[in-house]
Amino acid sequence: MSDRPAKMVGMPSPGSAAPTEGLLDDLDEEQREAVQAPRGPVCVLAGAGTGKTRTITRRIAHLVASGHVAPSQVLAVTFTSRAAGEMRLRLRSLDQQAGGVGTGSVQAMTFHAAARRQLQYFWPRLVGDTGWELLDSKFSVVAQAANRAGMKTGTDDVRDLAGEIEWAKASLISPETYPAEVAKAGRDIPFDAAKVAAVYAGYEAAKARREGTTLLDFDDLLLHTAAAIENDAAVAQEFRDRYRCFVVDEYQDVTPLQQRVLDAWLGERDDLTVVGDANQTIYSFTGATPNYLLDFSRRFPEATVVRLERDYRSTPQVVSLANRVIGAARGRMAGSRLHLVGQRPPGPEPSFSENPDEVAEATAVAKNIKKLIEAGTPPAEIAVLYRINAQSEVYEEALTAAGVAFQVRGGEGFFSRQEIRQSLLALQRAAERGVEVAGPELAAGVRELLEPLGLTTEAPAGTRARERWEALTALAELVDEDVAQRPELTLPALVTELRQRADSRHPPVVQGVTLASLHAAKGLEWDAVFLVGLADGTLPISHALSHGADSEAVEEERRLFYVGITRARVHLALSWALARAPGGRQGRKPSRFLNGVAPHTAADTGGAKPRRQRGPAPRCRVCNAALSTPASIMLRRCENCPSDINEDLLAELKDWRSRTAKEMSVPAYVVFTDNTLIAIAETLPTDDAALVAIPGIGARKLEQFGPDVLELVRSRS
Ligand code: ATP
Ligand code: MG
Repeated sequence: MSDRPAKMVGMPSPGSAAPTEGLLDDLDEEQREAVQAPRGPVCVLAGAGTGKTRTITRRIAHLVASGHVAPSQVLAVTFTSRAAGEMRLRLRSLDQQAGGVGTGSVQAMTFHAAARRQLQYFWPRLVGDTGWELLDSKFSVVAQAANRAGMKTGTDDVRDLAGEIEWAKASLISPETYPAEVAKAGRDIPFDAAKVAAVYAGYEAAKARREGTTLLDFDDLLLHTAAAIENDAAVAQEFRDRYRCFVVDEYQDVTPLQQRVLDAWLGERDDLTVVGDANQTIYSFTGATPNYLLDFSRRFPEATVVRLERDYRSTPQVVSLANRVIGAARGRMAGSRLHLVGQRPPGPEPSFSENPDEVAEATAVAKNIKKLIEAGTPPAEIAVLYRINAQSEVYEEALTAAGVAFQVRGGEGFFSRQEIRQSLLALQRAAERGVEVAGPELAAGVRELLEPLGLTTEAPAGTRARERWEALTALAELVDEDVAQRPELTLPALVTELRQRADSRHPPVVQGVTLASLHAAKGLEWDAVFLVGLADGTLPISHALSHGADSEAVEEERRLFYVGITRARVHLALSWALARAPGGRQGRKPSRFLNGVAPHTAADTGGAKPRRQRGPAPRCRVCNAALSTPASIMLRRCENCPSDINEDLLAELKDWRSRTAKEMSVPAYVVFTDNTLIAIAETLPTDDAALVAIPGIGARKLEQFGPDVLELVRSRS
């Protein structure tokens, strides 16, 4: 604790209470009930925008102003520093509004920050001379533990392992029970659970072995704080004298570990106010659970439980859509939902628009944003929300082109991402080596250069690897598009252009339009919200769908959609694209969450009509399915359909390619990419016509390499 435990904090006498009416004036009846409830357990269970955060700050002010508790004896906790900051801000402004009741000095912070302060204070007494050090990043310790456990790991694997350790610790799961718990939770992990458990055990041991100091990670801060209070009566006493009243916002996000700390703080007392919305549970994958919120009145049967239904944030039009979307939810959390009633004056109906591809979608969104700004909406009151950070790229591009300032929240801008910076460097090096490619070969060459950075043909397993893959795919598609528009583009020109693009997006501006993932948007609100990329496979995201259409993972995606919708005060625009890249096969479907809530056909939506196909969609020569990914089109079969490849021929072709590339002093992919060679070794072309039918082989390559290749095929088949 930065401020010493105040053993002598005097309780203001009730007689000296400041008037509190001002604090109640602009609350509705139910909010007031929660604010005025006597000391003791209070639970506010309510939907988005019903004033939960407002109620909780008012309750603190009320308790303080009426003399029940001193400001320094209140601890308000939240889960993100942003939410803690927002809470402090609201408490400070209440202080001014209510004539100096003192709420400005209430401690509002995250669980981690609170635990850290407490541990700093109690540690010397508990442990003595050995100090502790915060392990800011567990990466290297996890990497070493993985190594010792005999795992071959790349950067992304180490990150995913670290994520598993964090989930286990937050869920109070030990290395011994990890494999069983993972199976029970149905977690998607790209490793053998026993191996993860070994890494987890090795990681804990390595931290303890450090000499002269104890290494603690963020979760250890919580564990040690709870243990200190649980095991040492004097520490518990001192702590409990210091804090008497606890308040938790967004309580549906609490993890079992955080709950253990909260229980230690409380002891036998029950001065706890919690607010939350089980239908906004979107962090289950990190161990958060709404069960404590939903079980609150079972644990505290005497608790005041208040449900709020009036939505003060959004227009009835937005509220009605939110109700319909969450109305389709299933499971325990859905059971707690309430029908929201919009309190604001009516506004425009939410709009739905279907677009031929993501570029068209982003262009349309940027155009509409510009219109809103011209009509008087401040840019800071507008947000574009998407499912994953890699989706920001097309919007950064479209807003830049439209001259609209923006900031990317909860993730760096696209060109600042580590894998994108690495990619630009790799492309630049290739350009400096004098690689001369242009046109469609440039697009293929770029893909090949990005392959070692993680651009595999199929999406990899593992969260971090998948994020990287998504970003690299977005970059490759950006290049495809550039090449399609300017066939004469060379590699050095492309690199220059990409660098210019990256530079033109700096510096981010605070007053601009917000680009954010749905996760990063929680608790926030804007006048206008654009929910983009609402295609099945993006929202719900494909790896959630792989758990089954009725899975808990898909339900969490639905809640994410609900969080997104309820961020909008007035304007809400929902959009999706039928293809990823311009000219791509329009095989996508609108999000299943739009079923029954949105008009579905392009004709109904008022959105752009899908572009006509250039020719019949290419089909898999094995199973006849329509092909959409560049790699499958190149291979002329689905990537996972069995291949009838002539392996000897492929080996010969690769040999021939390295010789030829060496003679020409160019990298191998400039001659042919791997996928083109595979297509040759599978389709065994016997003449020029069959050869040019393979994507990636145009007239120039036919002339240059055709005779060699046909000769090789003849000799080997
Ligand atoms: P979320 O679930 O998204 O966190 P919330 O329930 O915490 O939402 P708040 O952010 O507290 O909701 O309130 C939503 C908006 O409604 C805020 O702008 C708040 O100032 C306003 N509001 C809340 N209660 C009232 C009220 N009684 N009268 C007028 N405005 C209100
Ligand atoms: Mg809130």
